[in-house]
Amino acid sequence: MLDAASPPTGLDVLEARLRQDLAWLELPAKPWVPPRSHRGEPVADVAIIGGGMCGLVAAAALRLLGIARIRVLDRAAEGQEGPWLSYARMETLRSPKTLAGPALDLPALTFRAWFEAQHGAGAFAELGKIPRAMWMDYLVWYRRVMGIEVENGVTATLIRPEGEDLLALETEGAGTVFCRRMVLATGRDGLGGAFLPEVALALPRHLRAHSRDAIDFAALAGKRVGVVGAGASAMDNAGEALEAGCARLDMFVRRPALPRVNKFTGIGSPGVVHGFEGLPDAWKWRFLDYVFRSQTPPPRDSTLRVARHPHAHLHLGSPILRAAEQDGAIRLETPKGRFGLDFLIFATGFRVDLASRPELALLGPHIRFWSDRFAPAPEEENEELAASPDLAPDFAFQEKVPGACPALARVHCFNYPATLSHGKLSGDIPAVSAGAQRLARGIARALFIEDRALHFAALQRFETPELLGDEWPERP
Ligand SMILES: Cc1cc2nc3c(=O)[nH]c(=O)nc-3n(C[C@H](O)[C@H](O)[C@H](O)COP(=O)(O)OP(=O)(O)OC[C@H]3O[C@@H](n4cnc5c(N)ncnc54)[C@H](O)[C@@H]3O)c2cc1C
Repeated sequence: MLDAASPPTGLDVLEARLRQDLAWLELPAKPWVPPRSHRGEPVADVAIIGGGMCGLVAAAALRLLGIARIRVLDRAAEGQEGPWLSYARMETLRSPKTLAGPALDLPALTFRAWFEAQHGAGAFAELGKIPRAMWMDYLVWYRRVMGIEVENGVTATLIRPEGEDLLALETEGAGTVFCRRMVLATGRDGLGGAFLPEVALALPRHLRAHSRDAIDFAALAGKRVGVVGAGASAMDNAGEALEAGCARLDMFVRRPALPRVNKFTGIGSPGVVHGFEGLPDAWKWRFLDYVFRSQTPPPRDSTLRVARHPHAHLHLGSPILRAAEQDGAIRLETPKGRFGLDFLIFATGFRVDLASRPELALLGPHIRFWSDRFAPAPEEENEELAASPDLAPDFAFQEKVPGACPALARVHCFNYPATLSHGKLSGDIPAVSAGAQRLARGIARALFIEDRALHFAALQRFETPELLGDEWPERP
């Protein structure tokens, strides 16, 4: 047991321990999926689009189960996957530093083990929250020690059914990839993109941005900047603009007050993690509709980062009624007044919009969404929930019309929009291992069932004797 005085042991020691732990658990399991080829090309057991946190944990969980022919593709450069070094603009993660997160039940794979190995237990005790870029460093280490090869600079452009039981993935950067199963680990906007309200579109592109965009904050020095929204991203973008030296910062929030309670986190437990998926539909909807309506507050640290600047102004009860360009600047109107701004950042979230995902051009029209089969009570109508895909227990898409696109059962949606079907297991840090394990077991089950004739033939061929025939002595 490490105490606060325990010195760093170094990553080499930790990695040796991880190898030892895996060996004691006999992991990864021996590869057992029969190899396949198609048109002279090897077929991957699973292709994963996205090498961010969910893609890495899914790949690691599959490998531990002996599903070894995995290809992980990401359009980002190596070490730049996910939001952490691009549009995430918070100083630290919201999550507590002690979460096991992606560790797949392996103590030596936790963030804490990685940090303490390098800096000692005392430094961990003193660490407040996890600095954002450090989380990316941890994920880079995770990928290396779990032996996950990510093919970077590869964009998935189209998923096609290929024959009876394969999928083809067209890519920019790696040609056509054939696989038996595909996992979409494409992130928060994995089935759509950034959401911009109508009012934003009235503004020319150079006067506005979405919080997901690359924003030149240095160019905002001395400017009047507005931010729309009250979530974590709104605060982080406001903080960034203030620290870049903007002349004035105005935040516009529709609600009369900032949400203050992080409801769903409050009831987090293994019960929620493993039980949510088993809830009757109406209860899944009721839980998430309540959570969405309550809204998630921005983290306290992010809010303090903004509030400490005297030229930051929070306008509550201030939906934007109109915004237009006037003499090279923005004229903006809310029920509480008129404002002149030089730049406006919309921290207005993401939405499901298959039209903005070319890779789903063929499959998208067949995907069943909750709106296709579930009618909530009138007081619980919720557009965002209605646009959630209606997923199978192994995260696979299901068909709108049975028989119209059987290939959908081979495509697993392991990203944020899976939340209504599965709970928060495929986006945030806390339960990502449970999500990846559910996904990997589902895929193992499906592959075994599909290959049953081959496994049966292997059973018949297996002739290695356990008894050698000489155990029972000859008796007269
Ligand atoms: C700003 C921000 C802060 C967050 N902070 C926290 C936090 O503190 N705690 C917490 O628990 N959660 C947090 N989250 C939520 C969650 O942990 C992150 O969104 C996390 O990145 C989710 O991992 P992911 O693998 O699903 O998506 P991502 O990390 O976004 O990875 C998706 C990957 O898919 C790739 N990709 C997408 N489409 C394609 C394509 N067509 N072809 C090839 N590659 C593609 C992308 O390049 C990307 O690298 C935060 C999210 C954001 C946006």
